Amino acid sequence: MKKLISLLFLLPILISAQHEETIKKIYDESLSNGHVYENLRYLCKEIGNRLSGSPEAAAAVEYTKQLMESYGFDTVYLQPVMVPHWVRGKKEVVRAINSDKHGTFEMNALALGNSVGTGPEGILGDVIEVSGIDEVNELGKKVEGKIVFYNGEMDPTIINTFGAYGGAVIQRSSGASEAAKYGAKAIIIRSVTNRQDDIPHTGSLRYKALINQIPAVAISTNDADKLSAILKEQKLNVYIETHCQILPDVLSYNVIGELRGSEFADEIIAVGGHLDSWDVGEGAHDDGSGCMQAVEAVRLFKTLGIKPKRTLRAVMWMNEENGLRGGQEYARVAKEKGEKHIAALESDSGGFQPLGFSMSGNENQKTKVRAWKDYFLPYRVWDFTQNGGGADIGPLSQQGTLLIGLRPSTQRYFIYHHTPADVFEAVDRRELELGAASMAAMIYLIDREGLN
Ligand SMILES: [Zn+2]
Repeated sequence: MKKLISLLFLLPILISAQHEETIKKIYDESLSNGHVYENLRYLCKEIGNRLSGSPEAAAAVEYTKQLMESYGFDTVYLQPVMVPHWVRGKKEVVRAINSDKHGTFEMNALALGNSVGTGPEGILGDVIEVSGIDEVNELGKKVEGKIVFYNGEMDPTIINTFGAYGGAVIQRSSGASEAAKYGAKAIIIRSVTNRQDDIPHTGSLRYKALINQIPAVAISTNDADKLSAILKEQKLNVYIETHCQILPDVLSYNVIGELRGSEFADEIIAVGGHLDSWDVGEGAHDDGSGCMQAVEAVRLFKTLGIKPKRTLRAVMWMNEENGLRGGQEYARVAKEKGEKHIAALESDSGGFQPLGFSMSGNENQKTKVRAWKDYFLPYRVWDFTQNGGGADIGPLSQQGTLLIGLRPSTQRYFIYHHTPADVFEAVDRRELELGAASMAAMIYLIDREGLN
C-alpha cells in the first residue's frame, strides 16, 4: 500500500521529467540537425514569391506536398480551394509634378493588393494629406476629385509592433472606399512600417460594396515625409499609373500532411502557416518561415520516433494575404466531415526568436497550456499572456478549437513585411530553428496531455 501511494505521488514527477527530456531532444535535434532553414531556402530561392493564383503558388503547393511525402508522413494530400487572382502588371509610377524645391520626381511605390489599376492613361490630381480616416470624414466633400494621401504612422510607443500595425493598417484596408465615398479619385498611403527608409510596403485593401473602386498605392516612409513637407508649402499634383487587375478565380490548394494518432486518432492538432505571399520579395518571414516550421515540427516527431497519440497535421493554408479562402475552406471541410480539432497552432509573425505563445479559446484550455510554461523557460520562451491565434486558424474558433499563435520578437517584423526586402537572407537560421522546436514542443505537450 505504502509503495502504491508513493508511486502515485511520483507519477506526475516522472511524467514531467519525461516531457522535459523529450522537449530537450526536440530542441537539440532542431538546432543541430534541422531541415527548416534549407527548406526555406528552397521555397524562397527556387520558387520565390507566390501570390495566390500565380504559377509560383502552384509550384509551392507541389514542393511542400513532395517535401512532406519525402519525410514519410502517413498521409499527404491537397485540399482544393478557389482563390482570387490579382496581378500587379507593369511597374507602377507615382510621380510628383513640378514641386518648387524638388521639381518632378518619382516616389518608391507599390500598388495595394486587390486594387484596381489606373490603366495606361494614369490619374493626375491635386493631393490632400490626412492623418487617418476620421479626417477624411471631417473633410467630406472637400476631398472630391482629389488624391487623398493617408499619412498616419505606426505608433512607435507601442512595444508589441503588431498593436501599432493594427492601429495604422486601417488606412490601407479601408482608406480607398472611405475616400471614394466623398468622390476622391485615388489614394496614396504611407507604408505601414515603423522603419524610416525607401522601401514601399504592399498589402491588401477591401473595397466596400456599392462604392466606386479607386486606385490605391503605398509609398515609402521617406517619400511620405518628403511629400508631406512639400504639401505644407504648396499645392502639388501627383501622377499615378498602375496596371493591376483582378482576373477570374483560380483553383488552388491547401497542402496537408498528417501523422496519424495511435490512441485518439480523431482528435486533430493542426500546425501551420500560409503558403501564399505577396508578389514582391520572397515571402521569407511572411510566411515561408511559418510553413517550413510547421513541416519541421511534424518531421521532428518522425525523426525522433515520437509516436503521436493524437493526429498531427501540418497545414499550408493558401490565400491568407488577399482573401483568406484557404483558412475558411479548411474550417468548412473540417465541420462538414465532423473532424474534431482540439488545437490549431499558427506561425505567421516571422521567423524571429520565439518568445511565447498567444491563445484564443476558453479559460480551461488556456489555463492548461499556461501551466506548461516551465517546460519552455529553459529555451527563453516565456510569454503566455497574449490573446489571439492566427488569421488562417481563426475560422476554426467556431468549433471550439483552441487557437495558438507562435509569438516571436516583433521588433523587426515590419521592416520586411510585404516588401521586396522579405527575402531568405533576412531570416536567421538559429531563430527559425528555435521557433520550429517551440512549435514541436507545444504540439507534443498537447498530444500527450490533451486539453480536457
Ligand atoms: Zn502572413
